Amino acid sequence: MVKRYKRHSCPIMRRSARVYLNELNVGKQAILIEFLRICHDATQFFVDLFWQRKDFSAKLADLETVHRGCDRFGLTTRLAQALAKQAKEIVRGRAKQPECKPCLRRHTVTLYSHFVTIESFRGTFDLAVKFIGSGAPKLVVPIKSTAPVNTFLCSGWTMAKTIRLGRSGVRLWIDLLFEKERPEKKSSGPIVGMDSNYKAGFVLSDGQTVGREIYDRIQQFSKRQKHTHAEVTSMLGHAIRQIDFSTIGALCIENLKSVKSGTRRKFRRSFNRRLSHWLYSLCCDLLQRRCEEAGVRLERKSPAYTSQFCRRCGKWERRNRVGDEFRCVHCGYSENADLNAAKNLALLGEAEVYGLRSLPSRFLCSTQHS
Ligand SMILES: [Zn+2]
Repeated sequence: MVKRYKRHSCPIMRRSARVYLNELNVGKQAILIEFLRICHDATQFFVDLFWQRKDFSAKLADLETVHRGCDRFGLTTRLAQALAKQAKEIVRGRAKQPECKPCLRRHTVTLYSHFVTIESFRGTFDLAVKFIGSGAPKLVVPIKSTAPVNTFLCSGWTMAKTIRLGRSGVRLWIDLLFEKERPEKKSSGPIVGMDSNYKAGFVLSDGQTVGREIYDRIQQFSKRQKHTHAEVTSMLGHAIRQIDFSTIGALCIENLKSVKSGTRRKFRRSFNRRLSHWLYSLCCDLLQRRCEEAGVRLERKSPAYTSQFCRRCGKWERRNRVGDEFRCVHCGYSENADLNAAKNLALLGEAEVYGLRSLPSRFLCSTQHS
């Protein structure tokens, strides 16, 4: 089974960076919170309407529907139209589960350039988001540029004219959106395998190793410690940014449902499982983005036997792996266990097969001498 890379139809990559409005004065905060509440209620009103009509089409809401929203919530036509459009997208997203009506829990709204403009701001703040009316309140929100925002701006991304305004608990935030043209996928270049477990971090078959420090940090967490997810997320992001993708044509990773090695007896079992699932999907998301930005193909391979397989003689054996070391009990070939697994994954990529069981023997022969 060879998984072909699915081509993206859209040539634009989109990312967002969240900026919390902690320093906004109380009056403005109250105005924005009230505005978000009205937007939330009106969007839910439109969702209910479309849901009742079983309207899963992509076409814009008719004027009569839009005006019903205007009258009920005292909105301008332009704002009602924008909210109806967002409601439409939500309803369309649920077309496959017609039994459960979408219920909006979060207070968020996407605002187009009719409602806001983003300007650079002289003084202590770096940017100013100007709410310019048309149904949104008229006010200026100064925001400090954060490190992620600066990184986007310095590496060729353009800031979109649209923002997302929202609230988590009592904290207001703005998501700034960034766009960049998606680079072509590389058609050549070395195929590199990557073994990840959170004891050794990420070990690449070309010799790169990143994220070794994450395991030590997780060990330091106490059971009741808060914000551990946020910290691990940022450490993972940092580690993955350290990988040099410029020398990689395609990256082969394990198609794992869990990253369990090295976690035994550390946590309660249920917690352990949740943590590993979450870590794996997070790693995948981050890797996918970085690969997309670098034009690197990301391929998922079967993890079966990758840590027990000997590339020299083609046999696998549980006893081949002893702790951090791989040593073949048949031919004596030895190597660092994580590096061995990474190289086996690269081998699957070169052979264009999904699992080691379907690896043609000629790929063994060629590695015998290397
Ligand atoms: Zn061997």
